Amino acid sequence: MALIVQKYGGTSVGSVDRIKNVAKRVKAWTDAGHQVVVAVSAMSGETNRLLGLAKDITSAPSERELDMVVSTGEQVTIGLLSMALHEIGQDAMSLTGWQAGMKTDTVHAKARIEAIEADRINTALSNGKVVIVAGFQGINEQGDITTLGRGGSDTTAVALAAALKADECQIYTDVDGVYTTDPRVEPKARKMDLITFEEMLEMASQGAKVLQIRSVEFASKYSVPLRVLSSLEDIRSFDEPGGTLICSEELFEEKNMEQPLISGIAFNRDEAKITINGVPDKPGIAYTILGQVADSNIEVDMIIQNTGHDDTTDFTFTVHRNDYQKTMDIVKPLAESMGAREISGDESIVKVSLVGVGMRSHAGIASQMFSALADESINIQMISTSEIKVSVVIAEKYLELAVRTLHKSFNLESE
Ligand code: ASP
Ligand code: MG
Repeated sequence: MALIVQKYGGTSVGSVDRIKNVAKRVKAWTDAGHQVVVAVSAMSGETNRLLGLAKDITSAPSERELDMVVSTGEQVTIGLLSMALHEIGQDAMSLTGWQAGMKTDTVHAKARIEAIEADRINTALSNGKVVIVAGFQGINEQGDITTLGRGGSDTTAVALAAALKADECQIYTDVDGVYTTDPRVEPKARKMDLITFEEMLEMASQGAKVLQIRSVEFASKYSVPLRVLSSLEDIRSFDEPGGTLICSEELFEEKNMEQPLISGIAFNRDEAKITINGVPDKPGIAYTILGQVADSNIEVDMIIQNTGHDDTTDFTFTVHRNDYQKTMDIVKPLAESMGAREISGDESIVKVSLVGVGMRSHAGIASQMFSALADESINIQMISTSEIKVSVVIAEKYLELAVRTLHKSFNLESE
């Protein structure tokens, strides 16, 4: 007997019929001898509808009251799912975040879970009940309702799995797993059976469409095996449920003798680049420029500074496209006052990254990447590397070509 935490997203509980299907699936797991705790989202579209109602009243709602309103969507689904289970003869009990002991900090709209006091869940489980917990919500030390940020039910599920020491956390969604890259860009993208936490975090720009990245950080911290799978497909087996298993490197190695060199290709269309040419090459320059950017809460992604010549140097960095104008407005006067020769920017760049823990023990990945891009005459504007990732910045118009070329070059199509 295993203890499984399952999470069903908004689409999976998007109608009464779908809720009934979820109930059947949950019951199948308990009939197979497992204990099940379920975390659910609001029915699809509901959270947006609630946010819309608040917006119709005020453009600046009290954060406490907004959490009061948006947390109600999940309360509806837990009750309905519990009833649906009763209807098919499965004992079940719904719990709101606070009833389930989900303690958070006091930051409304993006609260962090601090502890789960799981006595009530444990008692219900030992009485043979399926426990259904409202995702996305918790309670702070003042006793006020908090929410965990959009997509937060994933984090609820992982936190429950960690606190209950569950064998696995299953995230049911409308896709059947995590892919080697976005199938809309490369139709030959392949579903991965396994990926490590670390890789999944690096694939964030792709993975974020599938699950809340914070939940992956949480799962990694507490080593909770996390499985993404489709709620639209039949259960294939209780021992090998399919989908994509996101797990620690140790478990990965146990399950998969041969590690692929490259697991996937991530890309990010939301980048913009700023270049300052001919700044004086002296201590404090990077701090002067980037310190101010950071102070304005703008996140800088890649940074490159060239070797100086003639007592000057060139400096390039990337930010989110939404922050481009704001960053320019900060940096331009700074560059001028430092006597920089020129400042320029480009809002039509993208970042493409190869991700894989296999590259730790293997040389030549970067050069294979550069050669594949060169063969297609794709110009590389910036390069950065980490232990398990190589990223390049290229012109946006080459994104699709670059992703497909790399997908083929690293043989990601075949098992
Ligand atoms: N209902 C919340 C949202 O739409 C939380 C979730 O679905 O995970 O963001
Ligand atoms: Mg979601």
